[in-house]
Amino acid sequence: MEAAYAKGFQDLRIVTPCCQASTNLNELIYEPPSGLARYSLAISSPETFLAPQIIEKLEEILGVKLKQVWFHV
Ligand SMILES: [Zn+2]
Repeated sequence: MEAAYAKGFQDLRIVTPCCQASTNLNELIYEPPSGLARYSLAISSPETFLAPQIIEKLEEILGVKLKQVWFHV
């Protein structure tokens, strides 16, 4: 995304970080809940989404709203 941004989105070709597949940004399929972010917090191998109370506490500590998404590698 940053490389495409740097070129004014004239070249949308990418190699995916998960499986090194060649594609372009317009071909990506986003399955909800999903999102793009500048920063992320990650939990390795969670069994469930975090409880809303934990999210609220983290948001309180960090001072920003958070959104949970599954990241498959
Ligand atoms: Zn992949």
